[in-house]
Amino acid sequence: MTIERTLSIIKPNAVKKQLIGEIVTRINQAKLNIVALKMLRLTKEQAEGFYAEHQGKSFFDKLVNFMISGPIVVQVLEGDNAIKRYRELMGPTDLSKATAGTLRADFADSMTENAVHGSDSLTSAEKEIAYFFVDSEIVG
Ligand code: UDP
Repeated sequence: MTIERTLSIIKPNAVKKQLIGEIVTRINQAKLNIVALKMLRLTKEQAEGFYAEHQGKSFFDKLVNFMISGPIVVQVLEGDNAIKRYRELMGPTDLSKATAGTLRADFADSMTENAVHGSDSLTSAEKEIAYFFVDSEIVG
C-alpha cells in the first residue's frame, strides 16, 4: 500500500454545468477519500502561478482565461496510489482520446475546458496541495 495525496480541481465548465455532485460521487466510488475541499474563484495571478510550467505555450492565455471564468472546486484526495488512480479516473488531457466513463470523456467540452485537473506526480501533488491548502485545512 502506498497512501498518497493528490490535488483535484473541478474546473469552471463543470461547476457551471452543476456537475460537482456527480464528480464527487465518482471520486468516492473510486475509493478516493476527500480530505479537504473548498470552492473559490482564482485571480489571474493565481491561475498563472498554478500553470506556470505552461507559460509561453500557445494555449496558456486561453487556459488562464478559462480558469478565471468562474468558480472552481479544489480538493485533496487521499488513497492507495491516489495520484495514478485519479489520473485514470479523469482520462487523458485530450477528450478525443478519452475512454467513455472517464470524467473527461463524459464531461469535457474541449481540450482546454476539460472539466477536471489532477496532479501528475508526487512532486507536483505536494506543490499543488500547498498552493491551495494549509495543513490545518486537511482532515486526514
Ligand atoms: N491544455 C490546453 N491545450 C493543450 C494542452 C493543455 O488547453 O494543448 C490545457 C488543459 O486544460 C490541460 C491544462 O492545459 O488540462 C494543463 O495541461 P497538461 O498538459 O498539464 O494536462 P493535464 O495534466 O491537465 O492532463
